Amino acid sequence: VGESDANYLISLIRTIPDFPKQGILFRDFIPALSDSRGLGILLDAMEKTLPVPVDQFDLVAGLEARGFLIGPQLAAKTGKGFLAIRKEGKLPPETLSQEYSLEYGNARIEIEKSCIQPGQRVLVVDDLIATGGSAQAAARLIEQAGGQVAGFSFVMELNGLKGREALGSYPASSLLNMP
Ligand code: AMP
Repeated sequence: VGESDANYLISLIRTIPDFPKQGILFRDFIPALSDSRGLGILLDAMEKTLPVPVDQFDLVAGLEARGFLIGPQLAAKTGKGFLAIRKEGKLPPETLSQEYSLEYGNARIEIEKSCIQPGQRVLVVDDLIATGGSAQAAARLIEQAGGQVAGFSFVMELNGLKGREALGSYPASSLLNMP
C-alpha cells in the first residue's frame, strides 16, 4: 500500500472518545466504506496483506457485525466462500457457541454446527482487534466445528492491548496500528 493511499485511509477512520463506554476510544471505519476511493484502498490492501497465501485457506469467516462488511468482499476477491460468525440467538439450531469477554463487556458468538467441512482452513476477518478475546473465541468455534484456523486479518489493531499476543502462533495481519 502506497503512503498516500495509507494516509488517505487513515484520514477516513473516525475516532469517538468515550463510546460506547467511558474510557473507550472507539475507532470507526464506516466512513472508509462510504468513500469509494477509501473502500477500494481498504479491500485491495486487505487482499495484499493477507497473513497467509491465498491457496492456504478455503473459507473467509467474518465476525458480526463489522466483520460482515468486509469478509464477503474479501472472500469474493480471493475466490472463497464466506462463513458468518453470529452473535448469540440469531441462528436456528443446531449451533456451536463460545462465550468471551470484550474490551467493553461479555458476549457470546455462534456458528451453524455443520458449516465447516472437516479440515477446511478458515481465515477470520474483523474490523479491529483490541484484547483479542473475540478473535480467540472465533478460533475456538472454528476448531470445535472441525475446521482449522488459517489466520486472522484485521483492518485495525489497537496498540497496547496485547491482542496479537492473545492470538499466540496463529498468523495475523492488520492494516493500521492505532494508538
Ligand atoms: P476484542 O475482542 O477485545 O479484540 O475486541 C474486538 C471487537 O470489539 C471487534 O469486533 C471490534 O469491532 C470491537 N471493538 C473493541 N474495541 C473497539 C474500539 N476501541 N473501537 C472499535 N471497535 C472496538
